[in-house]
Amino acid sequence: MCSDSTRRTAIIGAGIAGLACARALDTGGLPVTLFDKARGVGGRMSSRRLPDAVLDLGAQFFSVRDTTFRHAVDSWHKAGAIAPWPVSLWSAETGSWQRHEDDLERLCGTPSMSAVTRHLAEGLTVETETRIEHLEGCAGQWQLVDEHGNRHGPFARVVLAIPSSQAHALLGSHDESLAAACETVIQRPCWAAWALFDAPLPALPDVDSDWQAVRINDPRLRFVVRNQLKPGRQDQGESLSLLANLSWSEARLEDSEETVVEALLDAFQQALPAGISLPEPSALGAHRWRYAQPDVFAGGEAVNLDYRLSASGLALCGDGWRGPRVEDAWLSGHHLGEALVAKSI
Ligand SMILES: Cc1cc2nc3c(=O)[nH]c(=O)nc-3n(C[C@H](O)[C@H](O)[C@H](O)COP(=O)(O)OP(=O)(O)OC[C@H]3O[C@@H](n4cnc5c(N)ncnc54)[C@H](O)[C@@H]3O)c2cc1C
Repeated sequence: MCSDSTRRTAIIGAGIAGLACARALDTGGLPVTLFDKARGVGGRMSSRRLPDAVLDLGAQFFSVRDTTFRHAVDSWHKAGAIAPWPVSLWSAETGSWQRHEDDLERLCGTPSMSAVTRHLAEGLTVETETRIEHLEGCAGQWQLVDEHGNRHGPFARVVLAIPSSQAHALLGSHDESLAAACETVIQRPCWAAWALFDAPLPALPDVDSDWQAVRINDPRLRFVVRNQLKPGRQDQGESLSLLANLSWSEARLEDSEETVVEALLDAFQQALPAGISLPEPSALGAHRWRYAQPDVFAGGEAVNLDYRLSASGLALCGDGWRGPRVEDAWLSGHHLGEALVAKSI
């Protein structure tokens, strides 16, 4: 067995994939340090905190299909980090609203989506506000260099739990095969707008007064969520998240925030039944996700693996290696963590 210093793993990215990987390493007795450029953990599961509201602008809820993920989710439930949501889900097309019914259980973080990743980060070493700009070294002796020129290391292994094009930039010429794998994964962008209102939205005919979320069939807008009806947020007023379609976001990626919010609110207005008008918002904004959801999944020989691991001690995980959901990202990180523990025994 290696000495402790050569067993150290660095994980770049403290989204759900990086955290799942870190938890598996920690459970296997291996030392791990996470680095994230953001102020907190969560990545695309983080929440925006405004003076009057907490808004989820990335993942809105997640579903559970895999039994290993189910065990993890049950423990988050016991810890009070998640709750079932939405239970009043609707679909809308040109003013006609239908209740969306299926057997899928949906859950979200409470009191915000980031509660899940904060729960996962408990007890782990996480260096936030640390953007890793490049890697130095070689197998077993990796150094991470951050935006201020500070060096972190040495690490036996470095896991890149970040979107594929960001991973590609960090890999540089260190590992051509991993860099080539990154080129096969395309992460599509998504605009997410938000709007606050001083009064609740008007009642809609034949729709629950406390409807929680609606899928919209419109070329601009795909999903609208009422944040104040998420568990643990009853003290905030009407606060919508409006998620744009990916193709529309691609075409409008460099538009201004104002133009995007206006277009998405207009699309929501069009989706309301005839004669119902949105009240005037009291505050508006939008967030541009450049790498929101993977489109083309990695192919090639290792297609049955939902992570990549090379002899150089570099590894890749995240939703791009498996599928476009929270569950996929968690499974990718968890499986990589288990593989690294198995290799170190
Ligand atoms: C708008 C939107 C809506 C979505 N809706 C849903 C949904 O309803 N249900 C669902 O299941 N999934 C949804 N998803 C997808 C889900 O959010 C993602 O699949 C999942 O969160 C990805 O996790 P990850 O850990 O792979 O990556 P990320 O969450 O992106 O984590 C990567 C982390 O790496 C950090 N990072 C990047 N580069 C560096 C660097 N150089 N140095 C340091 N840190 C770095 C970032 O700050 C980030 O925290 C949605 C995504 C978006 C964007």
